[in-house]
Amino acid sequence: MNVNNIDRKPTLGIYPGSFNPFHLGHLDILNQAVEVFESVIIAKGINPSKSSKEYNDKYPLPRKFLEQNPKVKVGSYDTLLIDYIKKHEIENSVTIIRGLRNGSDLEYEQNIVAFLRSMHPKIKVIAFYCDPRYRHISSSALRDIQKFSESEYRKYIVED
Ligand code: ADP
Repeated sequence: MNVNNIDRKPTLGIYPGSFNPFHLGHLDILNQAVEVFESVIIAKGINPSKSSKEYNDKYPLPRKFLEQNPKVKVGSYDTLLIDYIKKHEIENSVTIIRGLRNGSDLEYEQNIVAFLRSMHPKIKVIAFYCDPRYRHISSSALRDIQKFSESEYRKYIVED
């Protein structure tokens, strides 16, 4: 086989999450995704039970990074992720991107994949391993830290 003649389709990834806040661990996954996919959508999930507009204004996505990376676009959804994907008619071309910190994430993510596949059997999901430096970071832990120290919190946040 001549590898030069391989049929190459443009690739599209979607990185869903609550991103409240968007932190260095998220950025690490996004940077890996940008190396693999030609376009990436960051899809901010609005959880009706925990996110209000205020919440989203408080935790914006990294503006500078987005300006510098035109292949990364932003979307938001307050539905099932799969319905957002179907609404945009990308279910056959998109790959869902997830980040893995540890074994607990792996088990959790396997369950998510099972649900996603039950909703759309052909949906593609890829997971990237996070840099060990960011393994302990979660948005919920950062929100707890922020209650007591804005400067400690800022250490983990991508500059706006
Ligand atoms: P969290 O609230 O835990 O930060 P999100 O729902 O915003 O999580 O996460 C979106 C995606 O980013 C998930 O796939 C999650 O596993 C991944 N992720 C979260 N934190 C990290 C991290 N520190 N390193 C790598 N991936 C992460």
